[in-house]
Amino acid sequence: MYDYIIIGSGIAGLFTALLASKHGSVLLLTKAALEESNTRYAQGGIAAAISPSDSPRIHFEDTISAGAGLCDERAVEVLTNEAPGRIRDLLSLNVPFDRKDGELALGLEGAHRVRRVLHAGGDATGFHIEKTLCRALAHAGVEVVESCFVTEILIENGRAVGVTTIHDQIAESSESRTTTYHGHRIVLASGGAGQLFSHTTNPSVATGDGLALAYRAGAEVADIEFYQFHPTALAIPGQPAFLLSEALRGEGAYLRNSEGVRFMQQVHPQAELAPRDIVSRAISAEMAKNRATHVFLDLTHLPSEMIKSRFPTIYAYCRNVGLDMTVDPLPVAPAAHYLMGGVRTNLWGETNIPGLYACGEVACTGAHGANRLASNSLLEGLVFGARIVERTTNASSSKPSRGFSNPLKIHDTEEFVTRELHTQEPSLEDLRDLMWNRVGLVRDEPGLSEARNTLSAWQYSLPKPRTTAEFELSNMILIGRLMAIAARQRRESRGGHWRSDFPMSDPSWECHIVLSGAAAARSATEVR
Ligand SMILES: Cc1cc2nc3c(=O)[nH]c(=O)nc-3n(C[C@H](O)[C@H](O)[C@H](O)COP(=O)(O)OP(=O)(O)OC[C@H]3O[C@@H](n4cnc5c(N)ncnc54)[C@H](O)[C@@H]3O)c2cc1C
Repeated sequence: MYDYIIIGSGIAGLFTALLASKHGSVLLLTKAALEESNTRYAQGGIAAAISPSDSPRIHFEDTISAGAGLCDERAVEVLTNEAPGRIRDLLSLNVPFDRKDGELALGLEGAHRVRRVLHAGGDATGFHIEKTLCRALAHAGVEVVESCFVTEILIENGRAVGVTTIHDQIAESSESRTTTYHGHRIVLASGGAGQLFSHTTNPSVATGDGLALAYRAGAEVADIEFYQFHPTALAIPGQPAFLLSEALRGEGAYLRNSEGVRFMQQVHPQAELAPRDIVSRAISAEMAKNRATHVFLDLTHLPSEMIKSRFPTIYAYCRNVGLDMTVDPLPVAPAAHYLMGGVRTNLWGETNIPGLYACGEVACTGAHGANRLASNSLLEGLVFGARIVERTTNASSSKPSRGFSNPLKIHDTEEFVTRELHTQEPSLEDLRDLMWNRVGLVRDEPGLSEARNTLSAWQYSLPKPRTTAEFELSNMILIGRLMAIAARQRRESRGGHWRSDFPMSDPSWECHIVLSGAAAARSATEVR
């Protein structure tokens, strides 16, 4: 019996494990190699009000304004007030943040009014944070199991008490392939779900497993219709949608359409640095207008030495695919990037299931509202991971805290499972294409209904999963279906949810859609 079982080895899982290891036994389970995670690929950096011209209050206001009316103010207060302390923690672990004249260098990103984004190795922030945390973990006495895929959260008498896992490397016939671990606290830190979409900046591990596990166990999932599409992923046919960090625009890069004309100044006062949803839709509109597959990100007017030293990873990647960003405008298009919603938690990372906690991208603390402010997600993993440990070790923090204000609950989502519609077993590509085309950047009633029905039928037709890939597909179909249900329900446009048939924000929709897993816990097994 462990004191903590932590699922996932990105910033949220590693940091929580490190802190928890000071208080008890910790088991960390991760489905690929320890360092594999979204965290590892984060480029731009991590936001915190640490400069004299900044304050947690200004950071708070910028976060609220990006969140399009749906941020939970208490969660944003926690996030922005506790940010400087968590940065101090990273500095004490020796994360090599970049410095200028001896001071921490701060970048500017979209919708931030001041420079507050710490970065490392120029544009390799996530790589350095991940590496540093993994190094620290090696000396913390945490038991780590890699290539270990969590398939179920075990619930006894309404409390999370453990997990079951499979190891693909072990032969299917072997008894040791499936293992059960028991723990007093189960912490989900399993990241996002970008693999739901055919164009994504996320690595292959981002398949929304944690959401599906929690939902099936009876946890509440909130705000899942809000998905952030990053405006600028490199758009080269046949190549992955490699992220071109917002920090490029922060340093002065322009967006130009296929005729070479800048178009963001007409769209928003912050031009290229407008919130991500606005930039993504503007790019999409330009692409549609000119029947183009991309627009261009232009850095050619900026000093080439600055580009090479500030963005060495991006520069090297582009050179590899035949582009020199100091002289070539880069073809870009939006790609799926970040899930604002997730497993609903309070300010201490607690879910509605006793013993089950969530932090990082898998969680929905309410800090991002309908649209995340750039560089707030690495921060969220740190702040709420630390709070889980504080909550579980410090009696003085044991006062109950409420969940979101103003939720709209939909309890029985299983009513939507379409058992009659017979269909062939879906492939991963079918799923990704459906999600990109019907539940992507621009949504409408016919597309969302089609997606919901198809995903329901697919969920029904899937055989019982046995391998990691089969579990991932089953999880993604479930999460895609929940996203389609919530997106169809929300008949307005806001933040990362855009409906062409309801293009305005509607004040009566200033509430959260919370999907309850209780019904699904029963019927997920029936459905198979
Ligand atoms: C290209 C890119 C650039 C980004 N840039 C920035 C940035 O500059 N600033 C910023 O703040 N954010 C950025 N983000 C977002 C940010 O990186 C993520 O939101 C954040 O890293 C999430 O951290 P996490 O610890 O919650 O999850 P992750 O880092 O994704 O880690 C999840 C872990 O869970 C494991 N896991 C998943 N499912 C299972 C399972 N079933 N069983 C066992 N293990 C499992 C995974 O293998 C992984 O180790 C970027 C994201 C991408 C993809």
